Amino acid sequence: MSRRRGLCVFVVLVFAGLALTPSARAADIARWRQKYPLEKEVEIGRKTAEEIDRQYGVLDDPEQLARIQAIVNEIVAVSDRPDLQCDVKILSVPVPNAMAIPGGFIRCTSGLLDMCNSDDELAAVLAHEIAHMCNYHGMRQDERDRKMGIYQLGLQLAAIVAALNGADPGFVQYAVAAGYFAHMQIIVGYSREYEVEADRDGLAYLMKTKYNPTGMLTTMERFADLATRTWQGSDALRDFDTHPPSAARVAEVERYLREANVNINRAVVLRGYRAVPEEIEYAPGQRTWQICFGGRPVFQASPEPIDGKTAEERVHAIATSMNMVISVSGLAIHTVGLSDRKGYPEISFSQYPVLRILEQDAAFMGMDAKAYASLVREQLIYALDQAGREALRT
Ligand SMILES: [Zn+2]
Repeated sequence: MSRRRGLCVFVVLVFAGLALTPSARAADIARWRQKYPLEKEVEIGRKTAEEIDRQYGVLDDPEQLARIQAIVNEIVAVSDRPDLQCDVKILSVPVPNAMAIPGGFIRCTSGLLDMCNSDDELAAVLAHEIAHMCNYHGMRQDERDRKMGIYQLGLQLAAIVAALNGADPGFVQYAVAAGYFAHMQIIVGYSREYEVEADRDGLAYLMKTKYNPTGMLTTMERFADLATRTWQGSDALRDFDTHPPSAARVAEVERYLREANVNINRAVVLRGYRAVPEEIEYAPGQRTWQICFGGRPVFQASPEPIDGKTAEERVHAIATSMNMVISVSGLAIHTVGLSDRKGYPEISFSQYPVLRILEQDAAFMGMDAKAYASLVREQLIYALDQAGREALRT
């Protein structure tokens, strides 16, 4: 009842849309500013924000709130609406998402904080949301909906809620997460033109801040991945015309970055996801080299030279090749593989071999190569998982 009513309030505010050409933009923003003076916009947005906060629940995490607020302030200052005062809150929702409600109300889910590996990535998502507000996308969609009538949208929502309740097994795999994701995508779904516009303007804002705009690419790649897996799990949802980040949008962001001559290095914004060589003392006076991810050792090399190469040289070479793959294709836990090539177990990232486990390294650890390879893979997965979580808390 109150939930349904809340959905409709929000839907009225944000659905549908038409994008304008960049050249007409400044005049157009001024026109909307005149049409919806800030006080009026805030008044409309506040009601929606309060409804959303009540429905989803707000997390009281002063540290994270301060972090988000600082990033938001920095982006808003270089945006098309530097006078905007943003009200930031964290919603207690496991699925990564953020929303911009007219009037400067920005909501992030706790899942989004879990998903972002660095401030660069979080800034990218926030810049996209701020761009929606600067372009008055919410108000534009509101007007469109009144013209179109929201009756049909109401029916769609009812069907989706039903689909979520009777979730099929493939869908349940992503459980609550998938449900919320679909649900929130529907609620906050802007038109495709608006999404592309917000990506583009968000990137332009990011480039005026200290944040690395590559974060837009890496977060979007992961959103697109999540959306694909979620959507594949549900026949019911596949039919609906929703638009989570798609491969096309990812490609568009990459193209934009290249045109702006941004050096695309994913490893930098995927902070914890970086191989770092480190020298250690494994026994009094005895030293060797290891590779760490997020400060956690994942591989130790035998201190003895192998094929004329010292442990230091070998470990640096391995770290370099790992970081090269990460910078090109990113790194997700599920892409850490282990295979057997010509009798040598080999660790791969996104199917690129990055580390061959040698007998000598395994013997140093007191195991055979196969057992050590499994251990290295496990340690990698654990380190990546922890690094992903911790990046959010600093
Ligand atoms: Zn958006």
